[in-house]
Amino acid sequence: MNTLEIISQPPIPEHLIGEVQSKLAYVDEVICKAQISKDGQKIILEVNRPVDELLRQRVEEKIQRVVTTMTQGSFRPKVQVLEDNMSAPTLNTNDPMPELMQRGELHCEADGIFTLGPLVTRLVEFFEDNFIALAATFDAQPYRFPVLIPARYLERVNYFKAFPHSLTFATHLREDLDAIDHFAQSACCDEHGDLNQLPESFAKIQALLSPAVCYHLYFALADKPLPGGKMIATAVGPCFRYESINLTSLERLWNFTMWELIFVGEKDFVLENREASRKYMAKAFEDIGLAYRVETANDPFFVGEFRKQAAFQSAFQLKYEIRANLPFKNSTLAVGSYNYHQDFFGRHLNITLPDGSPVHTGCTAFGLERMAYAFLSQYGLDIQKWPQTVKDYFGE
Ligand code: AMP
Ligand code: ZN
Repeated sequence: MNTLEIISQPPIPEHLIGEVQSKLAYVDEVICKAQISKDGQKIILEVNRPVDELLRQRVEEKIQRVVTTMTQGSFRPKVQVLEDNMSAPTLNTNDPMPELMQRGELHCEADGIFTLGPLVTRLVEFFEDNFIALAATFDAQPYRFPVLIPARYLERVNYFKAFPHSLTFATHLREDLDAIDHFAQSACCDEHGDLNQLPESFAKIQALLSPAVCYHLYFALADKPLPGGKMIATAVGPCFRYESINLTSLERLWNFTMWELIFVGEKDFVLENREASRKYMAKAFEDIGLAYRVETANDPFFVGEFRKQAAFQSAFQLKYEIRANLPFKNSTLAVGSYNYHQDFFGRHLNITLPDGSPVHTGCTAFGLERMAYAFLSQYGLDIQKWPQTVKDYFGE
């Protein structure tokens, strides 16, 4: 592997190191690994070919562009902690991944694509049961949403501008006998798993794989008044976010499962319910013995949109993340979030309240694989050592 070191001008402020680092994956296809030094001065890249001057210049120019755009004029957001249960005693200090893989509890089909075995599946079901109980207390209406999402919907809610880097496109072969015959005869994968077909074989893109669950509800409510002026819904479904070289273990998947409780109505209705769901879950997490904290956060907007949007989200406390402790790496992982979108979807999708003004929306969302992974990181794989509530569920 070849290394390329770049000095960041100016140095990256500490609070942005993680955000910038995650974007380095998308700077150039030669990059296989990216690391920013603790002081924010040095960017160390592993690249897949020998570094010549031309390559250095190309990569350096793009990296400097990312750093400048994301950091110029930025200020450290004031992180507010709403719940702190980080000191809950946990028993395990090892990464559960190797043992899960070795026991066949996880099978990695490709980066970010995992099969879950019986133990992990039951753990996911345990968490899902907790979320179903939460939804029941809100009398939430159940929904099932498609995996595909039409491009024109995502365009309407500015998704292409905010998160272009993580999109996953769906396509099919063109309706052309010769193109289909040619594909059938010659399709094969190379040693990297890449299909050898040319882009001309594929039809234009009209759909993508869904990056979130609640969007489908807003699309179903679009361009009309909301009957009764309020609603609470719940749904679970697969979500897709392409995270390139950041795809690691169960922590960061391309294909994961999100469970959501969704609020639509007036501002106070949404905010009060978001808060009620947080309080309910605080109790549930305590029963499970999870070490975590809830704090203000922002979404991983792409480079050009990042500074303004992230600052706006933090300033108005639009997002709280539930960050579970990962003892083996002395860090935390977002397992869920409590979100308030103000009237963003109401305005863009023309969903109205009885007085004609746009609805406000919010959602409480949990990543099921991350819930299981955080729990196993804290308690290990031996059921006998798990908290009683979880043991009860497993009949132990
Ligand atoms: P968000 O809408 O970004 O707050 O996502 C809601 C939850 O989905 C997060 O708190 C995570 O638990 C989960 N999630 C988001 N992205 C991923 C990913 N790439 N892999 C696994 N889980 C994810
Ligand atoms: Zn949502």
